[in-house]
Amino acid sequence: AKAAGRNTLRFFDPSMQAIVTARAALNADLRLGLQQSQFQLYYQPQVDGEGRPTGAEALLRWQHPQRGMVAPIEFIPAVEESGLIIPLGHWVLETACTQLKAWAAREETANLNLAVNVSPRQFRQPDFVERVLAMLERIGADPRKLKLELTETLLLDNVEQTIEKMAALKARGVGFSLDDFGTGYCSLSYLKHLPICQLKIDRTFVKDILSNPSDAAITKVILTLAQSMGLTAIAEGVETEAQRDFLANQGCVAYQGYLFGRPMPLAEFEQFLMRTTTP
Ligand code: C2E
Ligand code: CA
Ligand code: CA
Ligand code: CA
Repeated sequence: AKAAGRNTLRFFDPSMQAIVTARAALNADLRLGLQQSQFQLYYQPQVDGEGRPTGAEALLRWQHPQRGMVAPIEFIPAVEESGLIIPLGHWVLETACTQLKAWAAREETANLNLAVNVSPRQFRQPDFVERVLAMLERIGADPRKLKLELTETLLLDNVEQTIEKMAALKARGVGFSLDDFGTGYCSLSYLKHLPICQLKIDRTFVKDILSNPSDAAITKVILTLAQSMGLTAIAEGVETEAQRDFLANQGCVAYQGYLFGRPMPLAEFEQFLMRTTTP
Protein backbone atom coordinates (compact mmCIF):
# COMPACT_ATOMS: atom_id res chain seq x y z
CA ALA A 1 0.00 0.00 0.00
CA LYS A 2 2.97 2.25 0.76
CA ALA A 3 4.24 2.04 -2.81
CA ALA A 4 0.92 3.01 -4.30
CA GLY A 5 1.10 6.32 -6.09
CA ARG A 6 4.81 6.07 -6.80
CA ASN A 7 5.04 3.86 -9.85
CA THR A 8 1.37 3.38 -10.38
CA LEU A 9 -1.04 5.86 -11.79
CA ARG A 10 -4.31 6.10 -9.99
CA PHE A 11 -7.46 6.49 -11.95
CA PHE A 12 -10.50 7.71 -10.12
CA ASP A 13 -12.61 7.52 -13.20
CA PRO A 14 -13.27 3.84 -13.91
CA SER A 15 -14.17 4.56 -17.54
CA MET A 16 -10.78 6.21 -18.00
CA GLN A 17 -9.13 3.08 -16.56
CA ALA A 18 -11.07 0.98 -19.05
CA ILE A 19 -9.89 3.12 -21.95
CA VAL A 20 -6.26 2.84 -20.88
CA THR A 21 -6.55 -0.94 -20.52
CA ALA A 22 -8.20 -1.27 -23.91
CA ARG A 23 -5.52 0.86 -25.52
CA ALA A 24 -2.75 -1.27 -23.99
CA ALA A 25 -4.41 -4.43 -25.29
CA LEU A 26 -4.77 -2.87 -28.72
CA ASN A 27 -1.09 -1.93 -28.80
CA ALA A 28 -0.03 -5.46 -27.87
CA ASP A 29 -2.33 -6.82 -30.57
CA LEU A 30 -0.96 -4.43 -33.17
CA ARG A 31 2.62 -5.43 -32.40
CA LEU A 32 1.73 -9.09 -32.75
CA GLY A 33 -0.26 -8.34 -35.90
CA LEU A 34 2.78 -6.81 -37.52
CA GLN A 35 4.88 -9.86 -36.64
CA GLN A 36 2.22 -12.25 -37.87
CA SER A 37 1.46 -10.47 -41.15
CA GLN A 38 -2.14 -9.67 -40.28
CA PHE A 39 -2.05 -6.46 -42.30
CA GLN A 40 -2.89 -6.13 -45.95
CA LEU A 41 -3.38 -3.41 -48.50
CA TYR A 42 -6.66 -2.80 -50.25
CA TYR A 43 -6.73 -0.91 -53.52
CA GLN A 44 -9.33 1.70 -54.37
CA PRO A 45 -9.47 2.75 -58.04
CA GLN A 46 -8.76 6.30 -59.11
CA VAL A 47 -10.27 7.15 -62.49
CA ASP A 48 -10.06 9.88 -65.11
CA GLY A 49 -12.86 11.94 -66.66
CA GLU A 50 -13.91 9.00 -68.83
CA GLY A 51 -13.98 6.59 -65.92
CA ARG A 52 -10.78 4.85 -66.97
CA PRO A 53 -8.60 3.66 -64.07
CA THR A 54 -5.36 5.62 -63.72
CA GLY A 55 -4.25 3.92 -60.54
CA ALA A 56 -5.30 3.31 -56.98
CA GLU A 57 -5.01 4.48 -53.43
CA ALA A 58 -3.52 1.86 -51.14
CA LEU A 59 -5.56 1.56 -47.95
CA LEU A 60 -4.47 -0.41 -44.93
CA ARG A 61 -6.58 -3.23 -43.53
CA TRP A 62 -6.03 -5.27 -40.41
CA GLN A 63 -7.38 -8.81 -40.40
CA HIS A 64 -7.33 -9.77 -36.74
CA PRO A 65 -8.03 -13.41 -35.75
CA GLN A 66 -10.59 -12.39 -33.10
CA ARG A 67 -11.42 -8.76 -33.78
CA GLY A 68 -12.11 -9.47 -37.45
CA MET A 69 -11.47 -6.87 -40.12
CA VAL A 70 -10.48 -3.69 -38.31
CA ALA A 71 -10.88 -0.33 -40.10
CA PRO A 72 -7.91 2.03 -40.06
CA ILE A 73 -9.85 4.68 -38.18
CA GLU A 74 -9.90 2.27 -35.23
CA PHE A 75 -6.17 1.63 -35.10
CA ILE A 76 -4.26 4.38 -36.96
CA PRO A 77 -4.47 6.79 -33.99
CA ALA A 78 -3.08 4.14 -31.61
CA VAL A 79 -0.41 3.17 -34.10
CA GLU A 80 0.58 6.82 -34.48
CA GLU A 81 0.74 7.43 -30.77
CA SER A 82 2.77 4.33 -29.95
CA GLY A 83 5.28 4.90 -32.74
CA LEU A 84 4.34 1.59 -34.36
CA ILE A 85 3.43 3.66 -37.41
CA ILE A 86 7.12 3.68 -38.31
CA PRO A 87 7.48 -0.08 -38.97
CA LEU A 88 3.90 -0.35 -40.18
CA GLY A 89 4.22 2.63 -42.54
CA HIS A 90 7.43 1.15 -43.84
CA TRP A 91 5.65 -2.12 -44.54
CA VAL A 92 2.92 -0.23 -46.41
CA LEU A 93 5.46 1.55 -48.62
CA GLU A 94 7.40 -1.63 -49.21
CA THR A 95 4.25 -3.52 -50.23
CA ALA A 96 3.10 -0.67 -52.45
CA CYS A 97 6.46 -0.39 -54.24
CA THR A 98 6.58 -4.15 -54.75
CA GLN A 99 3.12 -3.93 -56.31
CA LEU A 100 4.18 -1.10 -58.61
CA LYS A 101 7.12 -3.17 -59.75
CA ALA A 102 4.82 -6.11 -60.52
CA TRP A 103 2.39 -3.88 -62.46
CA ALA A 104 5.25 -2.37 -64.45
CA ALA A 105 6.00 -5.81 -65.88
CA ARG A 106 2.62 -6.10 -67.62
CA GLU A 107 1.55 -3.84 -70.45
CA GLU A 108 -2.04 -3.44 -69.26
CA THR A 109 -0.98 -2.28 -65.80
CA ALA A 110 2.30 -0.54 -66.63
CA ASN A 111 0.85 2.98 -66.42
CA LEU A 112 -0.90 2.62 -63.07
CA ASN A 113 -0.03 5.02 -60.26
CA LEU A 114 -0.24 4.12 -56.62
CA ALA A 115 -1.09 6.62 -53.91
CA VAL A 116 0.15 5.80 -50.42
CA ASN A 117 -0.86 7.53 -47.18
CA VAL A 118 2.05 8.73 -45.10
CA SER A 119 1.41 9.81 -41.53
CA PRO A 120 3.05 12.99 -40.22
CA ARG A 121 5.06 11.09 -37.64
CA GLN A 122 6.36 8.74 -40.31
CA PHE A 123 7.30 11.59 -42.63
CA ARG A 124 9.09 13.41 -39.81
CA GLN A 125 11.52 10.54 -39.27
CA PRO A 126 14.98 11.98 -40.03
CA ASP A 127 15.79 9.17 -42.45
CA PHE A 128 12.42 9.06 -44.23
CA VAL A 129 13.73 10.35 -47.58
CA GLU A 130 16.73 8.03 -47.60
CA ARG A 131 14.63 5.02 -46.67
CA VAL A 132 12.08 5.64 -49.40
CA LEU A 133 14.72 6.22 -52.06
CA ALA A 134 16.69 3.14 -50.98
CA MET A 135 13.51 1.08 -51.04
CA LEU A 136 12.54 2.23 -54.54
CA GLU A 137 16.02 1.43 -55.76
CA ARG A 138 16.18 -1.99 -54.11
CA ILE A 139 12.76 -3.01 -55.39
CA GLY A 140 13.29 -1.42 -58.77
CA ALA A 141 9.99 0.49 -58.74
CA ASP A 142 9.49 3.64 -60.81
CA PRO A 143 9.37 6.64 -58.43
CA ARG A 144 7.17 8.51 -60.94
CA LYS A 145 4.38 6.01 -60.30
CA LEU A 146 4.45 6.56 -56.55
CA LYS A 147 2.32 9.31 -55.05
CA LEU A 148 2.56 10.09 -51.37
CA GLU A 149 -0.56 11.47 -49.72
CA LEU A 150 0.24 13.94 -46.98
CA THR A 151 -2.15 15.90 -44.80
CA GLU A 152 -1.99 19.56 -43.92
CA THR A 153 -1.27 18.65 -40.29
CA LEU A 154 2.25 17.97 -41.43
CA LEU A 155 2.73 21.66 -42.07
CA LEU A 156 1.92 22.77 -38.56
CA ASP A 157 5.59 22.78 -37.66
CA ASN A 158 8.92 22.66 -39.42
CA VAL A 159 7.61 23.81 -42.76
CA GLU A 160 11.06 24.43 -44.18
CA GLN A 161 12.31 20.97 -43.32
CA THR A 162 9.14 19.43 -44.69
CA ILE A 163 9.51 21.26 -47.99
CA GLU A 164 13.17 20.25 -48.20
CA LYS A 165 12.28 16.58 -47.75
CA MET A 166 9.46 16.75 -50.25
CA ALA A 167 11.73 18.46 -52.76
CA ALA A 168 14.37 15.75 -52.37
CA LEU A 169 11.82 13.06 -53.17
CA LYS A 170 10.26 15.09 -55.96
CA ALA A 171 13.69 15.48 -57.57
CA ARG A 172 13.67 11.69 -57.97
CA GLY A 173 10.17 11.66 -59.44
CA VAL A 174 7.99 10.92 -56.42
CA GLY A 175 4.70 12.87 -56.50
CA PHE A 176 2.76 14.40 -53.62
CA SER A 177 -0.94 14.80 -53.12
CA LEU A 178 -2.33 17.02 -50.37
CA ASP A 179 -4.96 14.81 -48.73
CA ASP A 180 -8.19 16.01 -47.12
CA PHE A 181 -7.49 19.41 -48.61
CA GLY A 182 -9.54 22.21 -47.12
CA THR A 183 -10.22 20.50 -43.79
CA GLY A 184 -6.97 21.45 -42.08
CA TYR A 185 -4.88 24.49 -41.42
CA CYS A 186 -2.93 24.91 -44.60
CA SER A 187 -2.53 28.57 -45.37
CA LEU A 188 -2.62 29.46 -49.01
CA SER A 189 0.74 31.17 -48.72
CA TYR A 190 2.37 27.83 -47.83
CA LEU A 191 0.67 26.13 -50.69
CA LYS A 192 2.66 27.88 -53.37
CA HIS A 193 5.92 26.74 -51.77
CA LEU A 194 4.94 23.09 -51.52
CA PRO A 195 6.34 20.76 -54.16
CA ILE A 196 3.02 18.97 -54.59
CA CYS A 197 1.36 17.83 -57.80
CA GLN A 198 -2.20 17.28 -56.59
CA LEU A 199 -4.92 18.55 -54.27
CA LYS A 200 -7.31 15.96 -52.98
CA ILE A 201 -10.81 17.31 -52.37
CA ASP A 202 -12.05 15.86 -49.12
CA ARG A 203 -15.07 13.60 -49.01
CA THR A 204 -16.82 15.92 -46.54
CA PHE A 205 -17.14 18.54 -49.32
CA VAL A 206 -18.19 16.07 -51.99
CA LYS A 207 -20.84 14.45 -49.80
CA ASP A 208 -23.30 17.35 -49.83
CA ILE A 209 -22.09 19.07 -52.95
CA LEU A 210 -25.58 19.04 -54.49
CA SER A 211 -27.49 20.30 -51.47
CA ASN A 212 -25.05 22.57 -49.68
CA PRO A 213 -24.04 25.73 -51.55
CA SER A 214 -20.99 26.27 -49.30
CA ASP A 215 -19.62 22.82 -50.09
CA ALA A 216 -20.22 23.43 -53.78
CA ALA A 217 -18.43 26.76 -53.54
CA ILE A 218 -15.45 25.32 -51.65
CA THR A 219 -15.13 22.55 -54.21
CA LYS A 220 -15.20 25.06 -57.01
CA VAL A 221 -12.51 27.16 -55.35
CA ILE A 222 -10.26 24.15 -54.87
CA LEU A 223 -10.65 23.13 -58.52
CA THR A 224 -9.89 26.66 -59.71
CA LEU A 225 -6.97 26.97 -57.33
CA ALA A 226 -5.47 23.70 -58.52
CA GLN A 227 -5.85 24.69 -62.12
CA SER A 228 -4.27 28.10 -61.71
CA MET A 229 -1.35 26.61 -59.78
CA GLY A 230 -0.71 23.92 -62.36
CA LEU A 231 -1.81 21.12 -60.04
CA THR A 232 -4.25 18.32 -60.64
CA ALA A 233 -7.24 17.87 -58.36
CA ILE A 234 -8.93 14.63 -57.45
CA ALA A 235 -12.31 14.35 -55.74
CA GLU A 236 -12.65 11.60 -53.14
CA GLY A 237 -15.80 9.97 -51.83
CA VAL A 238 -17.75 10.28 -55.08
CA GLU A 239 -20.75 7.99 -54.62
CA THR A 240 -23.33 9.09 -57.18
CA GLU A 241 -23.54 9.99 -60.86
CA ALA A 242 -25.03 13.33 -59.85
CA GLN A 243 -21.98 14.19 -57.74
CA ARG A 244 -19.66 13.14 -60.54
CA ASP A 245 -21.56 15.21 -63.13
CA PHE A 246 -21.56 18.23 -60.87
CA LEU A 247 -17.80 17.92 -60.34
CA ALA A 248 -17.23 17.38 -64.05
CA ASN A 249 -19.12 20.58 -64.81
CA GLN A 250 -16.74 22.40 -62.51
CA GLY A 251 -13.76 21.01 -64.41
CA CYS A 252 -12.86 17.99 -62.32
CA VAL A 253 -11.16 15.20 -64.27
CA ALA A 254 -10.03 12.78 -61.56
CA TYR A 255 -12.20 10.82 -59.20
CA GLN A 256 -12.19 8.26 -56.46
CA GLY A 257 -15.20 6.83 -54.67
CA TYR A 258 -17.69 4.01 -54.33
CA LEU A 259 -19.32 5.03 -57.63
CA PHE A 260 -16.23 3.69 -59.40
CA GLY A 261 -15.05 1.09 -56.93
CA ARG A 262 -14.63 0.36 -53.25
CA PRO A 263 -11.28 -0.41 -51.70
CA MET A 264 -10.67 -4.07 -52.57
CA PRO A 265 -8.09 -6.82 -52.16
CA LEU A 266 -5.44 -7.05 -54.86
CA ALA A 267 -6.98 -9.94 -56.81
CA GLU A 268 -10.32 -8.18 -56.95
CA PHE A 269 -8.70 -4.92 -58.02
CA GLU A 270 -6.92 -6.67 -60.87
CA GLN A 271 -10.23 -8.20 -61.99
CA PHE A 272 -11.75 -4.73 -61.84
CA LEU A 273 -8.97 -3.51 -64.13
CA MET A 274 -9.68 -6.28 -66.63
CA ARG A 275 -13.37 -5.39 -66.67
CA THR A 276 -12.85 -1.66 -67.11
CA THR A 277 -9.98 -1.63 -69.57
CA THR A 278 -10.99 -4.37 -72.00
CA PRO A 279 -13.67 -3.35 -74.52
P1 C2E B 1 -8.27 8.80 -46.36
O1 C2E B 1 -6.84 8.85 -46.74
O2 C2E B 1 -9.05 10.07 -46.46
O3 C2E B 1 -8.90 7.63 -47.25
C1 C2E B 1 -10.16 7.68 -47.83
C2 C2E B 1 -11.17 6.94 -46.99
O4 C2E B 1 -12.45 7.16 -47.55
C3 C2E B 1 -10.96 5.43 -46.98
O5 C2E B 1 -11.35 4.96 -45.71
C4 C2E B 1 -11.94 4.96 -48.05
O6 C2E B 1 -12.36 3.63 -47.88
C5 C2E B 1 -13.07 5.92 -47.84
N1 C2E B 1 -13.86 6.11 -49.05
C6 C2E B 1 -13.43 6.12 -50.32
N2 C2E B 1 -14.43 6.34 -51.18
C7 C2E B 1 -15.54 6.51 -50.44
C8 C2E B 1 -16.92 6.78 -50.75
O7 C2E B 1 -17.31 6.92 -51.90
N3 C2E B 1 -17.77 6.90 -49.70
C9 C2E B 1 -17.39 6.74 -48.42
N4 C2E B 1 -18.29 6.85 -47.45
N5 C2E B 1 -16.09 6.48 -48.08
C10 C2E B 1 -15.18 6.37 -49.08
P2 C2E B 1 -10.49 3.90 -44.92
O8 C2E B 1 -9.91 2.89 -45.87
O9 C2E B 1 -11.33 3.41 -43.79
O10 C2E B 1 -9.29 4.76 -44.36
C11 C2E B 1 -9.52 5.77 -43.40
C12 C2E B 1 -8.30 6.59 -43.16
O11 C2E B 1 -7.25 5.82 -42.56
C13 C2E B 1 -7.68 7.14 -44.44
O12 C2E B 1 -8.42 8.27 -44.85
C14 C2E B 1 -6.28 7.45 -43.99
O13 C2E B 1 -6.23 8.68 -43.32
C15 C2E B 1 -6.02 6.34 -42.98
N6 C2E B 1 -5.21 5.29 -43.61
C16 C2E B 1 -5.59 4.25 -44.38
N7 C2E B 1 -4.53 3.52 -44.81
C17 C2E B 1 -3.43 4.14 -44.29
C18 C2E B 1 -2.01 3.88 -44.35
O14 C2E B 1 -1.52 2.94 -45.02
N8 C2E B 1 -1.19 4.74 -43.66
C19 C2E B 1 -1.70 5.81 -42.95
N9 C2E B 1 -0.81 6.61 -42.31
N10 C2E B 1 -3.00 6.07 -42.88
C20 C2E B 1 -3.87 5.25 -43.54
CA1 CA C 1 -5.65 9.32 -48.43
CA1 CA D 1 -8.50 11.64 -48.13
CA1 CA E 1 -10.77 12.10 -45.99
